[in-house]
Amino acid sequence: MSTIAFIGLGNMGGGMAANLVKAGHSVNAFDLVESALSRAAENGCKTFSNVREAVAGVDAVVTMLPNGKIVETVYENDVIGHAPSNAILLDCSTIDVATARKVSADAAAKGYDMVDAPVSGGIAAANGGTLTFMVGGTEKSFARAEPILAKMGKAVIHAGESGAGQAAKICNNMLLGASMIATCEAFELARKLGLDLQTFFDISSKASGQNWSMTSYCPVPGVGPQTPADNGYQGGFATALMLKDLKLAMEAAQSVDADVPMGHRAAELYQAFADAGSGGLDFSAIIKTLE
Ligand code: NAD
Repeated sequence: MSTIAFIGLGNMGGGMAANLVKAGHSVNAFDLVESALSRAAENGCKTFSNVREAVAGVDAVVTMLPNGKIVETVYENDVIGHAPSNAILLDCSTIDVATARKVSADAAAKGYDMVDAPVSGGIAAANGGTLTFMVGGTEKSFARAEPILAKMGKAVIHAGESGAGQAAKICNNMLLGASMIATCEAFELARKLGLDLQTFFDISSKASGQNWSMTSYCPVPGVGPQTPADNGYQGGFATALMLKDLKLAMEAAQSVDADVPMGHRAAELYQAFADAGSGGLDFSAIIKTLE
């Protein structure tokens, strides 16, 4: 089984690297944080003290890092030219489309196949190996990346050329942010109009207002399936991460002159909610601002 370098073993990367070990890969792990490295060692990874040593001689490199600037620095300084040129490179971080395309083009110029492969699904899905990957890259790169990603996820979808994975991710999350706020508004209006919220859920989840934020991730405690709302809005998908994705979407929209009024308003509302100190709460907690 092949050797994979895994860079960035935080909330998401820690579980993903562990799943590659479980699938029989030898995993070379690196993170700047000591506690992340010791957790990786407990999960069967071999730990390294820098990126260059971790990527030497590997068959693949997977990165799961906080943002585009860090991704660019790690690839330009320590992966490209240091990993073997026949290694497949997979960046699973959520970053801006332009940086994803730039890094991939720089890698291709040095003979590497690279994909952007951001994920949908949170920490539980990373630990459980049930992420959805949306992948940007050539047919050949996708064919090489797919078997590796399949060990960490339940679905691996080829979105198109380089950057298409990131484009799909931010379009999806822009839709999610706006639909969550619309769902919250509908529940709060229903409450003020004297409707029983469970009854409204029963009706709307079978009517044309039905959407994922309502039926799978209901922002109202005690209504619908078990969600972060039932746990004081702890866990789940943090407001700060939703805001990060909405900002990436706004940046991308500006770059192609796309009109996104609902996404824009969602970004403003999540910014205000985060500024008020709620960045660590699940994103469905934005319903509190409408009560
Ligand atoms: P995290 O902050 O928990 O993990 C990032 C890790 O990268 C940290 O352990 C950090 O020490 C490490 N790191 C930073 N700079 C580094 C460097 N130069 N070299 C090596 N390691 C470095 O973040 P996370 O929640 O795991 O998210 C990772 C990515 O996944 C982000 O792009 C995020 O937007 C995306 N994402 C997160 C979620 C989620 O629910 N947490 C869901 C979907 C996508």
